[in-house]
Amino acid sequence: ETAIERDVVVVGAGPAGLMAARTLVAAGRTVAVLEARDRVGGRTWSKTVDGAFLEIGGQWISPDQTALLALVDELGLETYQRYREGESVYLAPDGTRHTYTGSMFPAGESTIAEMEKLIALLDGLVAEIGATEPWAHPAARELDTISFHHWLRQHSDDEAACSNIGIFVAGGMLTKPAHAFSVLQAVLMAASAGSFSNLVDEDFILDRRVVGGMQSVSETMAAELGEDVVFLDTPVRTIRWAGADGTYAEHVPGTPVTVWSDRLTVRAKDVVVAVPPNLYSRISFEPPLPRLQHQMHQHQSLGLVIKVHAVYETPFWRDKGLSGTGFGAHELSQEVYDNTNHGDPRGTLVGFVSDERADELFGLPAEERRRLILESLSHYLGEEALHPVVYYESDFGSEEWTRGAYAASYDLGGLHRYGAHQRTPVGPIRWACSDLAAEGYQHVDGALRQGRLAAAEVLGAGSL
Ligand code: FAD
Repeated sequence: ETAIERDVVVVGAGPAGLMAARTLVAAGRTVAVLEARDRVGGRTWSKTVDGAFLEIGGQWISPDQTALLALVDELGLETYQRYREGESVYLAPDGTRHTYTGSMFPAGESTIAEMEKLIALLDGLVAEIGATEPWAHPAARELDTISFHHWLRQHSDDEAACSNIGIFVAGGMLTKPAHAFSVLQAVLMAASAGSFSNLVDEDFILDRRVVGGMQSVSETMAAELGEDVVFLDTPVRTIRWAGADGTYAEHVPGTPVTVWSDRLTVRAKDVVVAVPPNLYSRISFEPPLPRLQHQMHQHQSLGLVIKVHAVYETPFWRDKGLSGTGFGAHELSQEVYDNTNHGDPRGTLVGFVSDERADELFGLPAEERRRLILESLSHYLGEEALHPVVYYESDFGSEEWTRGAYAASYDLGGLHRYGAHQRTPVGPIRWACSDLAAEGYQHVDGALRQGRLAAAEVLGAGSL
């Protein structure tokens, strides 16, 4: 086992950890980034499967994600737009199929009016509450103790409108059933993207992708940091920082912290833990974290979604005048998009099966799961969808160092109760992760902002 010394240890080489390290190194600090996996990028990961280049994890960038857009530029990478020409498909609750353009589903006049009403109500809450400290709003407790499912139905009798609006946050973002999180949590999700209207506009939310894949953002940062900084296959097991008396009050900035991993021990002055909150308890903290942290971390959990990739010889839907975009709240795959790679003559579709539907599907044999998912895609785009040349299901729920997808959110009542404390340092330990972000919450952009913020705090600069 090797022992090294650095100013700062960063735990986790996802976008948050690498951005923290990049910021600290630029300010002249010595850093070690310890990563459990044999690769960087965390929940962003590109892989070639049966000859097809696939983005297994995070990939899209929206125009408001300026921290990410600026970094992509700085790293010399390029972006391209998601294909969106032609008509989208809406599958109504009765199973009928409708094509449309624009961002409002052709759900019938009264349902459309109800959806517009709900969107306006949510836009109002978002404007008033914001993303930075939703827990501080006077109505925070009230809004955090009612589920999004029930709040929607309190405000509308139109079931189709409620389930259509529900999918944008439940299946589409938090990947939990709408009964499992609060309307305050839904407001945070929308506020982090600027407004609820932005959240329901797929041309905004799913605007651009990185040429070469989103993981290349992390790979390029890691390459610039170098092998002396980023250590792979190095899961951190223990962080010890206090004196023998084991009290938090004793911590004097600059006194040593020791971080043990499977193959490296690092002595440092500060630690940035850049892993999702559901994994904090995989690390032994000595002394133990304060009671509040112990409690809080048990209320933050990852959702679950199967991201499905289906590659075809040609993007056949385009010939039919379809964009590849489709929505159906009652479908197994509630969303589908054209996910064809930059410059690729083949066509790729991406679908998503989330929360309880994902549980059901994971209970089936793989062949049966594939058949049902492709059948769902065919409801949107035709039976050519049944016969891809490459098929792959992203399964981050099985990954030891993630355990779900896309990201962490609080259970009902958790956001107003704990949110104000989620970034509070413990001794020399700071927390950075997309799942604690305001702008870019649950997204790569938020991870970068969090990484930079934690680094700025270590540097004593407040914010950069
Ligand atoms: P992570 O990416 O999770 O990185 C944390 C790192 O810490 C990991 O590398 C992990 O291995 C490591 N680690 C954990 N525990 C330890 C330990 N004890 N010791 C050492 N290392 C450890 N975002 C978007 O912006 N756009 C999208 O389109 C999008 N789609 C997504 C699709 C999927 C399927 C998934 C899973 C996510 C998606 N996201 C998307 C979310 C985005 O990928 C995450 O928000 C982002 O990767 C979070 O970055 P992070 O650095 O905070 O955490």
